[in-house]
Amino acid sequence: MMELKNGYTPTNYNDYLGEITLRRAIESSQNIPFVKIMEELTPKSSIKYMKKLGITTLTKEDDNLNLALGGLQKGISPIEMCSAYSSIANDGTYISPTFYTKIETQNHNIILKSKQKKKQVFSKDVAFIMKSLLSQPVNGTYGTATYCKINKIDVAAKTGTTNEDYDRWLCGFTPYYTAVTWFGYDFNETIHFNGQNPAGLIWSNIMKQIHYNLKSKSFEEPSNIQKATICAETGLLANKSCKKQYVEYFLKDTAPTTYCNK
Ligand SMILES: [Zn+2]
Repeated sequence: MMELKNGYTPTNYNDYLGEITLRRAIESSQNIPFVKIMEELTPKSSIKYMKKLGITTLTKEDDNLNLALGGLQKGISPIEMCSAYSSIANDGTYISPTFYTKIETQNHNIILKSKQKKKQVFSKDVAFIMKSLLSQPVNGTYGTATYCKINKIDVAAKTGTTNEDYDRWLCGFTPYYTAVTWFGYDFNETIHFNGQNPAGLIWSNIMKQIHYNLKSKSFEEPSNIQKATICAETGLLANKSCKKQYVEYFLKDTAPTTYCNK
């Protein structure tokens, strides 16, 4: 637990792990690192992006650090959450959701066609880095969504929970499909379950069936992306004696250029 400038005191979902990388924080669903990041980036800039990603239920009261953990006054509907996550899967392009594509007569005259809006919210490169980070809960040692793995197909997935266990979420995608599941009551009430996140179980069962028999596929790495071996303790380029090293992706020309000297 830690106190921030405005007196807001978030706690971690799991035990405090000391200084950790963003990758590890996403993997194990930590809270504090994201509140700290939002403190730096400001809730206003998050709200700006959420609106671009089609979230329509934000209120003035949501303009605070609680936003980092999804503590919203009105919440987000599963369909809007799904379209927002699809924008990452679609290489940064938001596409407004629809329940139909077209309606034709028997002679194939189109009488109704869905008009979906498309807009680029972030670059393909940024989307790729987000895909990679969101794969961490599925592939990482401490991952909270390891049961969402699908054989030979890349999966990105993030679990979510709210205070008092009113809600459980699983938001995720593959190179083929995006799906979001929410588990809870219409009126806030604590949900009880044995062990695994019930939203996650539904997600994983449905997605495994949908992907059954589809060809193996990975998230495509854009050519602009830079890779570097980083020292997890300092965030600088790892030298031979750094104990915790890992490979990280960066936008072009943003990787650290100095070596760790610890
Ligand atoms: Zn080092």
